[in-house]
Amino acid sequence: MSEQREHAAEAERLLRKVLEYPDDREELLLAAAAQWILAERPAEALALYDELLHPTSDPPSDPVSSPALVQALKVSALWDTGAEQQARELALSVRAQAPATLPPWQIIGETFEVHDDLPAAAAWLEDATDHFLTPDEVTYEARRILITRHRVRRLLGESHDDRDHLADYVHSAPVPLDELHDPKRLWSLGSDDPAEVRREIERLRTELADHRAALSRPYPLAVLYWPEAELVALLTRYPVFAADYGSYPEHLRSVEQALHALSATGVPHLGVVTATLPTYEAYARTQALPPATPSLPAAYATSLAARGHATPWPPPRTSPCWCGAPVPYAEHCGRPGTA
Ligand SMILES: [Zn+2]
Repeated sequence: MSEQREHAAEAERLLRKVLEYPDDREELLLAAAAQWILAERPAEALALYDELLHPTSDPPSDPVSSPALVQALKVSALWDTGAEQQARELALSVRAQAPATLPPWQIIGETFEVHDDLPAAAAWLEDATDHFLTPDEVTYEARRILITRHRVRRLLGESHDDRDHLADYVHSAPVPLDELHDPKRLWSLGSDDPAEVRREIERLRTELADHRAALSRPYPLAVLYWPEAELVALLTRYPVFAADYGSYPEHLRSVEQALHALSATGVPHLGVVTATLPTYEAYARTQALPPATPSLPAAYATSLAARGHATPWPPPRTSPCWCGAPVPYAEHCGRPGTA
């Protein structure tokens, strides 16, 4: 299948880059492993996770920045190669570390789910909810876990509890969670045609692999936001961008809409980066390009996100809006009807 060959070729291309960019070794190996998973060659991915966790190079490379993330990815790859028992044992050891970030929890929960051990997935996601849900606010992490938990409990046929009601409440997409997570829709249980069920399972597997590839990305996919004064300054000095951005209210709306559109295609790890004219012009100098270069704002956004300047999107409904307005997101850019 040519798509799988493309993923394998991409994995090999990324691995060749490791020699050229030793400082980016961890990101490159993780990205290459995600490509091996998409190429349906989990054994190759497994070897890369092991290399990250137990370097054999001489001198040994730096320890990975998030061992729990790499272990979670290894759980999934192990299971894909048929080593289910080892996968379960490693999941227990990740659980004992109680990782502080979302991806290890999300990846292992979904690994149980995709291998059809729904009770284990539900138990795991319960723990994850205990870990991330606080009484004061529903953080971005808690929201994602609540939604995954909701889906698994729907598949199990459980009735709604308080946490499911909370998931329904924080889910901001136009299709209600109950419809999205309808087991009939998820598994085509209504179908007697085995080919149709197989196709549905294939589709879910592909989605999961895409999701994992996105999670292994070292930084969020970020959309660039210009606060009003910065936008006015930009357009005064570089009128060429006027057609892209329009007025400030139009720009504000289009940032929220772009994020919704990306989110609707299943990109899970999104953010907003805030632009300023001086840092934009400084970035243009580092690239030896005129600031009016049409492709430069997107490259600038990526560079801000890569340096950790992205605000996760969507923010919790009750947190201040991503645009800096001192009102909750749900009452500002995230209010119904904006996107
Ligand atoms: Zn706003």
